[in-house]
Amino acid sequence: MGFNTKAVHTGVAKDSQYRSVTTPLYTSSNFAFSDIHTNTGYDYTRSGNPTRRAAEENIATLEEGVDARCTSTGMSAVTGVLHLLKAGDHVVSGNDIYGGTFRLMDAVFSRMGIEFTFVDMRNPHNLKVALRPNTKMVWIETPSNPLLNIVDLEAVASIARKHGALSVVDNTFMTPYYQKPLRLGIDIVIHSTTKYINGHSDVVGGVIVSSTTELAEQVQFNVNALGISEAPFDAWLVLRGVKTLGIRMAQHTRNATAVAEFLQNHDKVETTYYPGLATHPGHALAKRQMSGFGGMVSFDFKPGAMDLNVFFSRLNYFTLAESLGGIESLAEAPWFMSHASMTKEARIAAGIKKTNVRLSLGIEDTPDLLDDLKDALS
Ligand SMILES: *Cc1c(COP(=O)(O)O)cnc(C)c1O
Repeated sequence: MGFNTKAVHTGVAKDSQYRSVTTPLYTSSNFAFSDIHTNTGYDYTRSGNPTRRAAEENIATLEEGVDARCTSTGMSAVTGVLHLLKAGDHVVSGNDIYGGTFRLMDAVFSRMGIEFTFVDMRNPHNLKVALRPNTKMVWIETPSNPLLNIVDLEAVASIARKHGALSVVDNTFMTPYYQKPLRLGIDIVIHSTTKYINGHSDVVGGVIVSSTTELAEQVQFNVNALGISEAPFDAWLVLRGVKTLGIRMAQHTRNATAVAEFLQNHDKVETTYYPGLATHPGHALAKRQMSGFGGMVSFDFKPGAMDLNVFFSRLNYFTLAESLGGIESLAEAPWFMSHASMTKEARIAAGIKKTNVRLSLGIEDTPDLLDDLKDALS
């Protein structure tokens, strides 16, 4: 089965009573037993729910994992994975990961006796140097946010494995349509399904995908014990959204490619960041480990070239908003908005400038988006 066929056909046809074409939404909090030992496989929705299970089966198949668990938000997926650790453990993480993940590690889990070292993962040697005897997890995002740095998945997976540490990839930006970390030896993939997987900006959610049954059991234990599973209605929306993931990603990428090429040649723009550009330092690696370059582009204005608020206010089709991965185009300033949850030092270390603008290209028609940017920049 090809990707789109899997996306459309996995986890559906769950209704034998009326033979509905789409997966029914079971909002029930609990499910009846026929005797004290027997139920239909579900007892209580925090632990398991047929609608959520359908979404989980679908995403597990797309990521080529053994199991997936849908969580209430992307951050609760991160929480569920970090709770595989215990006090005294050490984690090496990328220094340009999602701001909320950085904050959770730096300000919450570090209070619980887990240590974190943040390094530039573009060079896997930095990971080797940061490893300690108690390093139990390696956390990466590739491409990173907002500068779209590329990390070598195979190299990181093998360094982590040799050390006996779990490797975790936040695959939110690429989705399994373009990047399959588990195939390259990574142990766990997480997503904020709020972004591309749901794709319609009408849900917040997350998912944890495991590569082995043993990990899957630990993850399900955590999701149930912590109470972070996704509400059935939200899971139902995610399942509806994921069916069009492939065709949406292709159009996001067409738009991002055209916009990156346009920005790269614009005289008000200093640097354009897009892994699909031949000038991007990670381009060769991106071509090797991804099958497409995705819908995110960022750029730095030349110093004093343009007031950010003027630029944003002139845009018609790009909404000034955080988040990403929806069908509508968005624009934002990471320093002041999406990455404000990182300390100033951390933002500087990650190379984020005050003049940086991040675009999430939607699925609108390419000429309309290009015209909009041309006008706003003129
Ligand atoms: C948005 C995002 C998250 C957090 O997800 P929420 O659904 O907002 O909790 C984590 N990682 C990445 C890469 C994200 O973009």
